[in-house]
Amino acid sequence: MAVKKRRKAPAVENEIINLTNVSKAYSTGAPALKDVNLHISRGEFVFIVGDSGSGKSTLIKLLLRELTISSGYINVMGYDLSKIKHRKIPKFRRNLGIVFQDFRLLKDRNVYENVAFAQRIIQKSNKEIKKNVPSILAIVGLAGKYKAKPRQLSGGEQQRVALARALVNQPTILLADEPTGNLDPKNSWEIMKLLEQINENGTTVIVVTHNREIVNAMQKRVVTLRRGVIISDEEKGGYIDED
Ligand code: ADP
Ligand code: MG
Repeated sequence: MAVKKRRKAPAVENEIINLTNVSKAYSTGAPALKDVNLHISRGEFVFIVGDSGSGKSTLIKLLLRELTISSGYINVMGYDLSKIKHRKIPKFRRNLGIVFQDFRLLKDRNVYENVAFAQRIIQKSNKEIKKNVPSILAIVGLAGKYKAKPRQLSGGEQQRVALARALVNQPTILLADEPTGNLDPKNSWEIMKLLEQINENGTTVIVVTHNREIVNAMQKRVVTLRRGVIISDEEKGGYIDED
């Protein structure tokens, strides 16, 4: 008879992300992450800040299992990402939404199709797609723009489409790597307010940003990286200036 494996008690309650002594070295250069310990609970909102080159995108890529760690332990949503089988990665990623600085929309498809595409990948029925896509587009404030192509939209609108696409499959965790990096202050605030609203509805949200003003105003948990090391991790934190 199979014996049930006993689970290690998590370091924090309702832990959804656990990085223990994680290092990541690329084949060239100094290690991008060094001995990182990061524990995130289900439902948290976390900013990741730090200078360019401090390892923020590397961290996001490890969480997505786009990269593997060099040493340590990483568990996301119960998946041990050093051990996960290749054929299980799509199922793992199904529970992650991701947004990038450069939107990454399908340029030849309209708004509706860009969002519907995410649902088709996970084989949602047309009936469900027709219900889910309009509903998420309404949430991001694009109810009137179904037929527009990305080039016909402003940067802020394009990022809302990307956000709708990331959210339509109802991910457990939303990862955003500098989502406001190409936006003006007004659109940046609108995207951040949407991320906050999504978090209030239960999604765990992790946002990499350089936007000092927004980080300081929003009073969320702030994790600061410097040259691959977490130098600060504070509840209701602020943006730490590099010396
Ligand atoms: P950030 O997102 O904070 O700007 P990155 O995680 O992109 O930082 O990069 C961290 C460090 O790793 C930098 O020194 C960068 O040059 C290096 N790096 C990133 N990607 C690669 C790669 N594919 N190969 C080699 N070095 C890389
Ligand atoms: Mg980066």
